[in-house]
Amino acid sequence: MSLQSWGMYPLVENETLEFQSEAELSKELHDADELIAYGNGRSYGDSALNETLVYTKPYNYFLDFDVAEGLLHIQAGVLLSEILEGVVKHGWFLKVTPGTKLITVGGAIASDIHGKNHHVEGCFSECVEEFTLMLANGTVQTVKKGEELFLATCGGMGLTGVILTAKIRLKKINSQYINQTTIKTKNLKETFAAFEEYSSLPYSVAWIDCLAKDENIGKCLLMVGEFADDGDLRYKPKSKLNIPFNFPSFALNTLSVKAFNWLYYKKSPAGVSHQRVHFDSFFYPLDSIRNWNRIYGKNGFTQYQFILPKESSFDGLQRILDKISKSGKGSFLAVLKLYGKENENYLSFPIEGYSLALDFKIEEGLFELLDALDEIVVECGGRIYLTKDVRMSQETFESGYEKIELFRKFRKENSMSEKFNSLQSKRLGL
Ligand SMILES: Cc1cc2nc3c(=O)[nH]c(=O)nc-3n(C[C@H](O)[C@H](O)[C@H](O)COP(=O)(O)OP(=O)(O)OC[C@H]3O[C@@H](n4cnc5c(N)ncnc54)[C@H](O)[C@@H]3O)c2cc1C
Repeated sequence: MSLQSWGMYPLVENETLEFQSEAELSKELHDADELIAYGNGRSYGDSALNETLVYTKPYNYFLDFDVAEGLLHIQAGVLLSEILEGVVKHGWFLKVTPGTKLITVGGAIASDIHGKNHHVEGCFSECVEEFTLMLANGTVQTVKKGEELFLATCGGMGLTGVILTAKIRLKKINSQYINQTTIKTKNLKETFAAFEEYSSLPYSVAWIDCLAKDENIGKCLLMVGEFADDGDLRYKPKSKLNIPFNFPSFALNTLSVKAFNWLYYKKSPAGVSHQRVHFDSFFYPLDSIRNWNRIYGKNGFTQYQFILPKESSFDGLQRILDKISKSGKGSFLAVLKLYGKENENYLSFPIEGYSLALDFKIEEGLFELLDALDEIVVECGGRIYLTKDVRMSQETFESGYEKIELFRKFRKENSMSEKFNSLQSKRLGL
């Protein structure tokens, strides 16, 4: 079996190793020249790809759950969806969750993922008390907050070792519903003002119409919300629709994206509206369609996600959205989020500011467009998210991540750079 990333690009042949015990994994590490951990393949690019992969998803037992304290001890292959099935009924939820619950705990730590509440709760590593990691020499180390191995592994894209287990703190809830407010804006100025106005609420995310032009650039639907307080915790996940095959690549073009954007924006009432929605549709709208990545066709797609410091966010986004709109290369998914303070980890993505994520199908001219967008990101002092990336240059990467030399030095000193590598780490010299 060859595993691939969510973007289905690049497609590479790989050998997949599985393990049931630490001893088995230790032997596999000893025998292999070079490898990288693979969780559930929800990263978009080449961070979990190489010729040899350690498939960690089957390593997925629940080890302990302190229901009174909300402290969970699990193996790294457990999916966030499996955690929710076990804990919501007891009034607990994930402190930090991304836009899909179909990722492993190991993947959440390695990418130090963030959610719609970064400005309040920070990254996933903030809720990790400790984890165990198999190092390059096959020994297992317990890693605690504040240690250098913690700083290098959270956000370190699997390049320090294989995460085996983790203890994570959960968040108390008293409902499976979210009280959602939707704010419809007409341009980027209104969008920024709305984000700031509602920033005391824990969750916020905006869908931007990236093909809007001129004075409408940056128009959006901003969704903000918080958990309701009605005591309803009877959670039962719904079954999913499936996309059974790859769509032909012409199915997704400027016209279909324009039509989608027009309808999506129009169906929401003007101004401010209120709804009560289930947490599954608030946090994970795309999970309701299995294999939705196939709509981009067999050549695959990529997600371009960058973040800009607050002071340069408005101008930078205006310039980037203008360039995308003029290029005609549309994206159904264009998601803008607000971020709080940067953490200490060497390669975690968030800095205080705004981030935009856009999906593009792989086609002629795309990488030239993204190179041009990189220039603006670099000029604005921003950076690109490793877990989404498949093509940025080493120069662009280095200009965004100022702690990279600490990371490289640490990897080298601990013989990690000889054993743990992905296509991405080799491309970027991580
Ligand atoms: C629809 C969708 C929405 C998303 N929304 C968000 C979002 O809102 N915020 C966000 O931050 N991300 C988001 N992501 C990205 C996703 O959360 C990350 O890519 C996550 O790391 C994927 O986890 P995975 O288990 O699938 O890992 P993989 O994709 O298999 O691997 C990702 C990285 O983690 C490493 N890794 C995996 N398991 C281990 C392990 N046990 N030990 C060491 N390293 C390991 C891999 O080597 C690789 O570098 C989204 C992805 C999708 C598809």
